[in-house]
This record gives sequence, structure tokens and C-alpha cells, in this order.
Amino acid sequence: MGCVPLFQFLLLSVYDRTMNFKIDLHVHTKFSGDNYTEPEETVINAIQRNLQGIVFTEHYSYEASEHAESLKEKYRNEIMIFRGVEFSAAEGHCLIFGVNTDKLSMSHAPIEDIVRIVSESGGIVIPSHPFRGGTGIGSIVEKIKGFTAIEGYNGYSHHSQNMKAIEAAKILNLPFTGGSDAHEPGEVGACYTECYEEVTIDNFLTVLKAGNYQGVDTRKVSKAWVF
Ligand SMILES: [Zn+2]
Ligand SMILES: [Zn+2]
Repeated sequence: MGCVPLFQFLLLSVYDRTMNFKIDLHVHTKFSGDNYTEPEETVINAIQRNLQGIVFTEHYSYEASEHAESLKEKYRNEIMIFRGVEFSAAEGHCLIFGVNTDKLSMSHAPIEDIVRIVSESGGIVIPSHPFRGGTGIGSIVEKIKGFTAIEGYNGYSHHSQNMKAIEAAKILNLPFTGGSDAHEPGEVGACYTECYEEVTIDNFLTVLKAGNYQGVDTRKVSKAWVF
């Protein structure tokens, strides 16, 4: 039994490879245009909730999350900050990761076309709150091929709507994610995705594609948008 060198000990304490990684895959700020949240407040709340990562998914535009770049650097030793987008397909909302959607011409295109275009560009599509009336894509979710996962736990959906989404994921044999859909800083982490492998800034997309994760709902009461 030798001594563990100090630097190795410090590395182990920061990056415990046996731990699960908690990532909130669905977070909005004032750059979504429907709230007043300062991104940095959300980051601070996420650190306090012991999340290892968050993804800013502003409405409709990837470039709307440009604010994440400076925060990513500033907080790089405390939390991983990623960028995605919550896009509007003709049928409803979906989360898109790994591509700049502003550079792809697919505004309000059918979800089937969006999946094809994003996949061809190397990105992935995860329908968000599919069974929330008005903005979810609904039962068509079970007919579309090419989703990477289904958002199972959404912090702004009723438990019953989330259960339907998880059921759809099972039917499709896909993993399900969790995301708070936070529109206020204190809401971040209400739902999140627990990854059972190490997540880094560089392997995020690979981890999402691999499917070794599950959504988690920490809410005592499921609040929801009313439709
Ligand atoms: Zn949405
Ligand atoms: Zn959202």
C-alpha cells in the first residue's frame, strides 16, 4: 500500500468516476423572451443544487444562448454549461443538441423533417413534454423514427403527462430524460437527467446518444402550464 500522491488525491476528490452526473437538460433564461431570468443566477442555483451540468435551451434560437460561453469559462471548475435549443416543429416543441439550428432552414417544419435535417448535421432531437397540450407534439411521438430519447420528466408538466411520455419512451425502446424547463433561477434542477457514466464538456453528445441515463423528478407537487 503506497501513499496516494497529493495531486492524485485532489483529482480524485473533484472527479469521482464512480458518481452519477446530474444534468438539467432543459433551462430557459430571459434570452428565451418569456421571462426575466439572468443566466448567471440560474448557474449559481444549479451549483447550489449540486448539479454537475445544465444546458441552456432558449426558445427557437441556438444563438440566443451565446451568453453561456462566458459563464462556461467563469464557472468551469464548478459546473459544466452546455448549449442547445428548444425548437418549435409544426406539431410542437423539441430539444435539439449538437447543431446550430439558426443555420439550418427548418423553421416550423414537420417534426419528421427536423429529425432528418438535424441528424444529417450530426445533432440529436428529443421531443420535449410531448403530452403537454398545446405545445407538445402529442401521440405522433410514437410514430416518428430517429429520436435519441424522449423527455420523460419535465418540471412544468403534470405528473400524468410525464408518465405518458415515459410510457412512449418504453414503447419506442428509447431512454427518457429529465429537465426542469426552468423559467426562474430557483426552478433549475427540479427535474434533471441522471447519467450513469462520466460526462465531460467534450463527450456530452456521445453520452446522450449512448442512452445510459434516466430522468429524475424531485418535485413534491407537479406544477404545470395550464392548457
Ligand atoms: Zn416547451
Ligand atoms: Zn422549455
